[in-house]
Amino acid sequence: MFCFQCEQTAKGTGCTAHGVCGKDPETADLQDLLIYAAKGIAMYAHRARQLGAKDRAVDVFVVEALFSTVTNVNFDPKRLEQRLRCAHQVKEVARQLYEQACKAAGKQPEALSGPAAWAPADNTDDLIRQGEAVSIEDRIEEHGEDVAGLEELLTYGLKGTASYADHAMILGREDDEVYAFFHEALDYLAGGECTVAELLAMVLRCGEVNLKVMGLLDAAHTETYGHPEPTSVRITPAKGKAILVSGHDLKDLAALLEQTEGKGVNVYTHGEMLPAHGYPKLKKYKHLVGNYGGAWQEQRKEFDEFPGAILMTTNCIQRPKDSYKGRIFTSGLVAWPGVTHIDDGDFTPVIEAALSADGFARDEPEKSITVGFGHHAVGSVAGKVVDAVKQGAIRHFFLIGGCDGAKPGRSYYTELAEKVPDDCVILTLACGKYRFNKLDFGDIGGIPRLLDVGQCNDAYSAIQIAASLAEAFGCEVNDLPLSMVLSWYEQKAVCILLTLLHLGIRNVRLGPSLPAFVSPNVLKVLVDKFNIAPITTPDADLEAILGAAAV
Ligand code: SF4
Ligand code: SF4
Repeated sequence: MFCFQCEQTAKGTGCTAHGVCGKDPETADLQDLLIYAAKGIAMYAHRARQLGAKDRAVDVFVVEALFSTVTNVNFDPKRLEQRLRCAHQVKEVARQLYEQACKAAGKQPEALSGPAAWAPADNTDDLIRQGEAVSIEDRIEEHGEDVAGLEELLTYGLKGTASYADHAMILGREDDEVYAFFHEALDYLAGGECTVAELLAMVLRCGEVNLKVMGLLDAAHTETYGHPEPTSVRITPAKGKAILVSGHDLKDLAALLEQTEGKGVNVYTHGEMLPAHGYPKLKKYKHLVGNYGGAWQEQRKEFDEFPGAILMTTNCIQRPKDSYKGRIFTSGLVAWPGVTHIDDGDFTPVIEAALSADGFARDEPEKSITVGFGHHAVGSVAGKVVDAVKQGAIRHFFLIGGCDGAKPGRSYYTELAEKVPDDCVILTLACGKYRFNKLDFGDIGGIPRLLDVGQCNDAYSAIQIAASLAEAFGCEVNDLPLSMVLSWYEQKAVCILLTLLHLGIRNVRLGPSLPAFVSPNVLKVLVDKFNIAPITTPDADLEAILGAAAV
């Protein structure tokens, strides 16, 4: 296996013997093969769409295939094998669609080769060998590190965008242009003759499409569950039976809340599910009692200690300990071998596991944090914020957000947030906020100094907030007193970064380390064009942002 798609990749260069995330070589090979198969489907689907023919089942399959290969989503080789066999059938549907469209248009179909000609081997071992044959290493050797690295950047951007498209799709929001782009980009990658200039243009288009997808998801969330509003969330346990819900899928949480109503079970959020407390149609459930624990990398310790059932709705799942393997469940595209998967939205097994577990024996002294500062909530106090800036009460805004992870270098973000001067406001989002969201930052004239914007996909909200501030000040986002200091871990963070680049946002600081798949030459292009910089130390970065005298 060779995989370097996430920030925790071994030695900062690539996982080879086994994934640091727990992905075994067989699973890695099957995931590589699934991407290859998705390219084959896209080769036909892209050409069919150009002739006016499309098929929603084909579109949806490609999105799910991409999302299945995101870090910490699907670790189950059996489920991946099923998906690969299905991929071949879907490719045949796409091929027929294309050939029929050609016939209707009086054209001769192209004879496609490469991924379009792939057929799955008969057994698992041979499938794994097929996966080995399409590994990234071969492409690096064949295309060189600049082109191969940019191909991966595009592929990871597509994976991240697909995850948000899947969440939006689950809530009934889709866009044909988004499906068309997935197919076009995968077909382009399948062609094998990419250039640096074309790839750079394509990754920026991926950022543009991701902005659209995050907008779709924002609309899906807010139209279904209402606009998030500032909400105090209990972070200490309450006495009683308990279910912990993690991941990003609000629909699964809503279904679980409905199914647990009146059953004497308290529901807690974990990790990226924390922002759910701010949505009116979710917080109306009294048994959504609070948030438990921190970010995904703490889950083996926290799930072990949690005296109830656990539901992982999407990434980021970690290898479950035996102590809780019998009371953890997965739903959607996330999977782990031997863990019960809920396919049909009926969470009875989760509820039964919670009822037969001990639950919390007592109420812990109540402590709380505040969430729910989406673009709607912040927009409603924008006038107050702008006045505070004009009067000099607020000097600068920091967006400190992104993914969390296990590396010690991530303590930078805690230290930075602590050192941000008292006359500055911190916007945060995604699971990186657990590094500092329980600290007391106080307020500036009633405006909280820490504003929790939401999940990683709520980067859309952060962009809207920045855009409305720019409008209020009559300037460009790059001219605002706003600095973005981001942490990345996996491919959702990649597509968000591409969106920021598409919007022309400069001076983003990125850490804790730079992506292994970005070659020095490509990094130079990104630095020259967008002035992306790696994080250094909190003191040095604050000084660079605010000026030595002002820190
Ligand atoms: S997803 Fe990350 S940790 Fe897992 S195998 Fe790939 S690079 Fe390694
Ligand atoms: S922000 Fe990134 S690392 Fe954190 S839970 Fe979401 S996807 Fe995973």
